Amino acid sequence: MAVTASPEEQLRRHGLRVTATRLAVLAVVGEHPGHPDAEDVHAGVRARLGSVSTQAVYDILRALSEAGLLRRIEPAGHPARYEARVGDNHHHLVCRGCGATRDVDCAQGHAPCLAPSDDHGFILDEAEVIFWGVCADCAAPRATMKGNA
Ligand SMILES: [Zn+2]
Ligand SMILES: [Zn+2]
Repeated sequence: MAVTASPEEQLRRHGLRVTATRLAVLAVVGEHPGHPDAEDVHAGVRARLGSVSTQAVYDILRALSEAGLLRRIEPAGHPARYEARVGDNHHHLVCRGCGATRDVDCAQGHAPCLAPSDDHGFILDEAEVIFWGVCADCAAPRATMKGNA
């Protein structure tokens, strides 16, 4: 049911003005096969609209993330990444080598899917899980030239 509203409609619903740049950012993130970072989004928006400042793209990414139209994930040591798949509490696999990021469905259903050993009285609504490891490409034998990283 989440995706029935047009992008224009979604922006309006969240009190955001409909602009070509905002629509382009939504489209670029939505069509990207992975989890683009701000640079990827900037490149995609430029390809659609011509010149757009990096700052404008950053500002829009922040506004759309705050509005809940995009989800922002920030794996430590990697630039923040964005995705249009929001509100389903899925998790991520992140490669320590190349930073490749993949979605994994939450095994437990709805948030928070994990219970801490002690909630310290907090009312919890989310468990943001990143599974760290090495992707198949980075684990392949031919990738051993990297030394002891
Ligand atoms: Zn990798
Ligand atoms: Zn994801």
